[in-house]
Amino acid sequence: MQTRPRATIRPKAIAANWQAFARRAGAAQAGAVIKADAYGTGLASTARALAGAGCRTFFVAYGFEALAARQALGPGPDIYVFHGAGPGEGQALAARDCRPVLNTLESHAVWLQETGGAPYALHFDTGMNRLGLRPETAVEVAGRVGHHAPRLLLSHYACADAPGHALNVRQLKAFHQIAAQFPGVATSLANTAGHFLGPDHLGDVTRPGIGLYGGGTSPACDIALAAAVVLHAPILAVSDVPADETVGYGASGVLSGPARLATVALGYGDGFPRSAGNSGFGYLGNVRCRIIGRVSMDLITLDVSAAAGLAKPGALVEMIGDKAGLEDQAACAGTLGYELLTGMGPRIERVIEN
Ligand SMILES: *Cc1c(COP(=O)(O)O)cnc(C)c1O
Repeated sequence: MQTRPRATIRPKAIAANWQAFARRAGAAQAGAVIKADAYGTGLASTARALAGAGCRTFFVAYGFEALAARQALGPGPDIYVFHGAGPGEGQALAARDCRPVLNTLESHAVWLQETGGAPYALHFDTGMNRLGLRPETAVEVAGRVGHHAPRLLLSHYACADAPGHALNVRQLKAFHQIAAQFPGVATSLANTAGHFLGPDHLGDVTRPGIGLYGGGTSPACDIALAAAVVLHAPILAVSDVPADETVGYGASGVLSGPARLATVALGYGDGFPRSAGNSGFGYLGNVRCRIIGRVSMDLITLDVSAAAGLAKPGALVEMIGDKAGLEDQAACAGTLGYELLTGMGPRIERVIEN
C-alpha cells in the first residue's frame, strides 16, 4: 500500500504546452523558463523534453541551475541566468556557454574582465523596480559595450496577467527606447501572461514558465493547457464521525452533519500550504471533497461523505491534476500555482511518465 504522496510528472504535457506557446508566439521564438527545478517538475528531464519539442533557449535563475541545464542538454541550446554572474563565476559559466543576464554596471564590467566578452544578456528594469539596469543608463551602457554587444536585451512586465493595465504599454514604450540604443540585438519581454498582451508585446524570444507547467492566471489565456503535474495523496485511514465532533488542531474543522472522513498522507511538511486548511480540496474519483480542519505537517483530513464507497486505505486522492486544477487549488489556499508547484518538497515521490 502506498503511504507516501506522489507527484506524477508528464513531460509530454509540458512539451505540448510549449508547442502551444510557440504557435502563440508567432514570428517570435518561444524559449522556456526552467528555474526552480523546472517549477518542481525536475530540471533535467523537463529540459530534455522541451529541447525535444524544439525549444532552443532556456532561462534559469541561478548559475548552478544553468550548469545543471547544460549538463542535461549538452552543447547547443542557449542558456540564460536571470541572476547574472557574481565575481569569480565568469570562467565556470562561460566555459559551458551559460550566459548571465547582467543587471548592474558593476557585474557587466566584471563579466567582460573575467571572460574577455563571452556572450551575455542585459536586463533593463522598465517599471517593475525589482532587478535590472535603470532605463536612463541605456545610453551609457550602450557606450560601454563596444564590440562586446549583448546577445539578448530583456525586460519583465509587472502586470502581464492584467492585460488592460496601463503599465504594460508604458513598459513596452520604455523598452523600445532602450532597444534603440542596441541596434541588431535580439529582445525578450513576455513571460507566460505576456503572450496574451498582443504580438507587439513579445520581443524576439519569449520566456514562458508557469504556462508550460499547466498554470497561470491571465484572464486572456486562450490556450487549453494540459496538467503537467498530478499530485496524489494516499488515504491512510477512514472513519465515521458524528456531527457534534470537530476535526484537527484547534478543533477548527466543523462538521455540518455526521461525516465520513479520510486522512491522507500530505501536509505542509511536504510543501502543501497550511493556508489550504478548511478551504482546499481533493478529488476522490470524480467527487470533490473539501479539506476539513487544519493542514498539519504530514496529514490532511477530507470530508469524503459524498464518495464514501471509494474511500479506502491506499486509495489515492488527487490534490493537483486534471480534476483538481492547479490554480483552483492555489486560489483556495490564497496563493498561486507557482507556489504550489515550486513548494512541492522532497518527501513527495516524483515519478516521471514516459
Ligand atoms: C520566472 C520568470 C519568467 C517566467 O514567468 P512565468 O510567469 O512563469 O511565465 C520570465 N521572466 C523572468 C525574468 C522570470 O523571472
